[in-house]
Amino acid sequence: MAEDRGELLVGLGAPAGLCGSCRFALLNRTRRGTVYLRCGLATEDDRFAKYPRLPVMECSGFRQFEGGTDPVRPSPPGVAR
Ligand code: SF4
Repeated sequence: MAEDRGELLVGLGAPAGLCGSCRFALLNRTRRGTVYLRCGLATEDDRFAKYPRLPVMECSGFRQFEGGTDPVRPSPPGVAR
């Protein structure tokens, strides 16, 4: 069964920063269990690193991910998801 985005984000070795909630972030787990994050925007724009150094704190390519949840950046208290 495929893991959801939230599970993969938790498995990263470092906080993802902006990439954690970016629509271009592609997350995969290797057979050995290592989770890595690849920037999908890097394939069409060489200003972006294919494997960005995490956590990414600023990025001109950032676009909000519209689906799922992001456990790395929890909602402020009182804000429902
Ligand atoms: S566009 Fe920027 S924020 Fe989005 S995945 Fe790539 S490096 Fe991360």
